[in-house]
Amino acid sequence: MRLHQVTTAAVAALALSLTAAACGSGGDGGGGDGHKIAVGIKYDQPGIGLKTPDGKFTGLDVDVATYVAKELGHKPADIEWKEAKSADRETLLQRGDVDFIAASYSITPERLKKVDFAGPYFLAHQDVLMRADDNSITKPSDLNDKKLCSVTGSTSAQNVKTKLAPKAQLQEYGGYSECLTGLENKAVDALTTDDAILAGFAAQPGFKGKFKLGGFRMSNENYGIGVQKGSELKSRINAALEKMVADGSWDAYVKKNLGPSGYKSESAPKIGVIVG
Ligand code: GLU
Repeated sequence: MRLHQVTTAAVAALALSLTAAACGSGGDGGGGDGHKIAVGIKYDQPGIGLKTPDGKFTGLDVDVATYVAKELGHKPADIEWKEAKSADRETLLQRGDVDFIAASYSITPERLKKVDFAGPYFLAHQDVLMRADDNSITKPSDLNDKKLCSVTGSTSAQNVKTKLAPKAQLQEYGGYSECLTGLENKAVDALTTDDAILAGFAAQPGFKGKFKLGGFRMSNENYGIGVQKGSELKSRINAALEKMVADGSWDAYVKKNLGPSGYKSESAPKIGVIVG
């Protein structure tokens, strides 16, 4: 009897440690309820990924990531949110600091050399945010003699330098919210990144009526869920994204998060199809 009890306890302990090893954050992210999963999001992009002053997380990427985590077997309470700034995303995945990233993360050939992507789950376009009374920027090339703000490690900054406006005076910050103060106090003339992000900023109560979008559609930004290169999570996340679109959750998330800014979203992209 006594021996039996010890053996049962030992087997239970072994089973527990094996489960923990299979499910630890930074690993492959599998496993069931009660096991943490680390997810990278933006902290400063209203409507997309935002950490609110009371410590809550909101936005399209937060809702998409929560749905995906649930499909992978993790309750919302088991999600450990981590900030994934534009320039840090590949490194966070390569180091195993996060299991996956949902952070306005465009799928690009350069990034695919280092990480893999599930998706795409959203299609945005690069645009320009300027002060509401500024009529000097009517087309992308007008940015060439402007002070322009964007973010290090983003496709937005890269596109400015290589094709959109190579002669612009580009200032690169760590996050887009840092550009907004500069735009307001005229330290910079414009901010460039994805239209969905810019619409979220322009709709903030403190900024209402101060800024406007150019509406230039300068690129296609296919948002993917970043995972470690070769991770088996990619196909499982693709299955979750398919289900999210099919059961109407995608529509609900887009409406809830991007509706308030008046953003006109493209329809849901087909999983596995990149819009070039
Ligand atoms: N979607 C673009 C990118 O992945 C711009 C937004 C961002 O920096 O997160 O670089």
